Amino acid sequence: MPTMKRVEIKAHQHLKEMLRLYFDDLEAASHDAGRRVAWCTSVGPCEILAAFGFAVFFPENHGAMLGAKKMAAELIPYAVGAGYSAETCSYMNCDIGSALTGRSPLTDVYGMAGPPTPDLLVYNTNQCREVQDWFGWFSRKHDAPSLGIMPPRCLGAVTKDHIAFVKHELELLIQKIESQFGVTMDHSKLEESVALSSRASTLWREVLDTAQHQPAAISFWDGLIQMSPVILMRGSQTAIDYYELLLAEMQQRVADGVGAVPGERWRLYWDGMPVWPRIRDLSEKFQELRTVIAASTYCNSWAFEPYEGGDPLEWMARTSLEIFINRDEEYKQQFLTEMIQQFSIDGAIFHNARTCPNNTNSRFGMVERLRQSLDIPVLVIDGDLSDARFFSTAQTMTNVEAFIEQLEERRR
Ligand code: SF4
Repeated sequence: MPTMKRVEIKAHQHLKEMLRLYFDDLEAASHDAGRRVAWCTSVGPCEILAAFGFAVFFPENHGAMLGAKKMAAELIPYAVGAGYSAETCSYMNCDIGSALTGRSPLTDVYGMAGPPTPDLLVYNTNQCREVQDWFGWFSRKHDAPSLGIMPPRCLGAVTKDHIAFVKHELELLIQKIESQFGVTMDHSKLEESVALSSRASTLWREVLDTAQHQPAAISFWDGLIQMSPVILMRGSQTAIDYYELLLAEMQQRVADGVGAVPGERWRLYWDGMPVWPRIRDLSEKFQELRTVIAASTYCNSWAFEPYEGGDPLEWMARTSLEIFINRDEEYKQQFLTEMIQQFSIDGAIFHNARTCPNNTNSRFGMVERLRQSLDIPVLVIDGDLSDARFFSTAQTMTNVEAFIEQLEERRR
């Protein structure tokens, strides 16, 4: 009988230390008159900010921390009081509530007063318009400029014209930063930052791909933690070094036949946002059911196509446009179909996140189309990324158990 004890990732200790150094550096930058801090959206143009020498902070990561620490119910009412609907992005609302109350997990975890004060905020609406409004609030609060790019949305094919348009937006962004701060961007640094970013992203994809093996070496739940370097430290050698270490560990698992979920019996796909406040409950439930979430849209969002030299702005423009969240239904269905086949998936779970319609794909017939075209069971769960008031643990667990029972029936 296989042991049901969760298999720990050894590299994780190293990740914890890296994150401490990253946040220490942000804290130091925010108190150093000679350095500047920029806030950036998670799939925003952070390589440009790195080339300018900004210390880069990612508020969505803070939003996820606030959700995981179960602080949403306490903080969101403050954002609602400031005029932000409780039905809009709970990352944004938690972050605004955190600023209004001065409460942040960064204090307990990293000894910071809270998020570093921004000198500049840079967004990319390729994921949603909410980030523009989110950064607008903090721009007014800190009297710091909020600049951004607005790529065309919901694309099928990404064309040369689309890329040229976004590249031009990036050039204008660089000009605005230069004139705002009286600095000049070093283009060789941008090239270097893009090459590092791309390498980290490629390694991240290789790490995720080890879950194609049966049993899957890594699960969605581990991926949610392990993806932090590709978001927070994209464009640095540190992220590359970490993913080389993690990849070697995952490849060793594959060679040894070790799975993230001991006794793996079922392999699922997760579409949509995580339910941060219930990660532990959900991961334990799936482990108990000997079910691995082998692949997800979310963790794959930072697995970009590689940069192979040439114009770094063109690569940035292309990756901005090509990300899953920015594509049309047809493209998304094709992508999901390929993932489900490549990862030998038995069934899929779609998370209908109340406050993030942008990263929810169960609202326009996708679930039914996949059920029919792939003949696999699909479960839709209602919830939210951070606001646990929209998520019923008891109801979801019952639905998940019934779903696994359905898989058992089919196999019988
Ligand atoms: S994609 Fe969703 S969760 Fe992310 S910032 Fe936009 S609305 Fe919020």
